[in-house]
Amino acid sequence: MNKAVTFSIEIFPPRDAAGWNQFDQTLTRLKKLQPRFCSVTYGAGGSARRGSDIALAHVQRQTSLTPAAHLTCVALSRNETLDIARHWWAEGIRHIVALRGDMAEAGTPFHPHPAGYKYAAELVAALRDLADFEISVGCYPEIHPESHDRLADLFNLKQKLNAGAIRAISQFFFEPEVFLRFRDAAAAIGIHHPLVPGILPILDFNKAAGFARRCGASIPKWLIDRFDGLENESDARGQVAASLAVSMCERLIAEGVQNFHFYTLNRPTLTLAICHALGIQPALERAA
Ligand SMILES: Cc1cc2nc3c(=O)[nH]c(=O)nc-3n(C[C@H](O)[C@H](O)[C@H](O)COP(=O)(O)OP(=O)(O)OC[C@H]3O[C@@H](n4cnc5c(N)ncnc54)[C@H](O)[C@@H]3O)c2cc1C
Repeated sequence: MNKAVTFSIEIFPPRDAAGWNQFDQTLTRLKKLQPRFCSVTYGAGGSARRGSDIALAHVQRQTSLTPAAHLTCVALSRNETLDIARHWWAEGIRHIVALRGDMAEAGTPFHPHPAGYKYAAELVAALRDLADFEISVGCYPEIHPESHDRLADLFNLKQKLNAGAIRAISQFFFEPEVFLRFRDAAAAIGIHHPLVPGILPILDFNKAAGFARRCGASIPKWLIDRFDGLENESDARGQVAASLAVSMCERLIAEGVQNFHFYTLNRPTLTLAICHALGIQPALERAA
């Protein structure tokens, strides 16, 4: 049992009955490992608030997990954004992942709402004034796609943390050195808050590569090669994906990382396998 290492999970609001089944499966199968929190994404372009509300209420009322609500401020006025946060506070949600968000139409340049928050740092400061939320923010080991340079991006991260966030959860990446270099660069400008690596278990290589292209995560050639030829071998793909994620997490643990955030995509099997392989099994320890 690896007592020092903990993890959290990300899920998204389901859209139909089959999606709800997967969502429930994800919560049921992963809650045994006692993730520190379970974050629920917010629809791109600030859409789909209703989906987030229902999914959050489900996590809050039907499970023993601690929900964290992603909140994006794109496309909303300041009042509208804060009304959502007030509603969640009244519902007992105490953790918000505060984000700017992207425009609803992929590839459209960002335009802030005329009466809205322009950057996540402004949202963090407003949430801090509103209530005693635990606030997490996003960070980008390979730089946010709109950033001019690493330093500007890191100063933005520092602003978000100084405004009241207590941790930053990273965009996913496929090589541990990417995260470790980012962590060093952050420390060099005085960022000492926890930076939690976001891990994307590769359920489907082509989909993962598509996500990576959209968010600016690089895909190393060796990774393409590892999945090459396994297009019709889903079991073998799963085993390769789990083994690669375990190796990456082990390297990060050896470098002092103690918390991970898994992008589950509402599919629990790989996250479950990776956590077991890493020795993250608190429920089993209690039963012993
Ligand atoms: C862990 C995580 C979870 C996510 N969850 C969701 C989700 O649920 N729903 C969703 O739609 N999206 C989600 N995203 C994606 C996110 O909304 C996008 O990456 C978005 O483009 C940026 O959001 P941010 O909060 O990082 O923005 P910001 O921190 O505001 O940064 C956005 C850009 O503006 C720049 N910038 C910031 N401040 C300034 C300034 N003062 N002057 C000049 N430039 C500045 C930054 O360097 C960066 O390039 C998530 C991302 C992460 C890492």
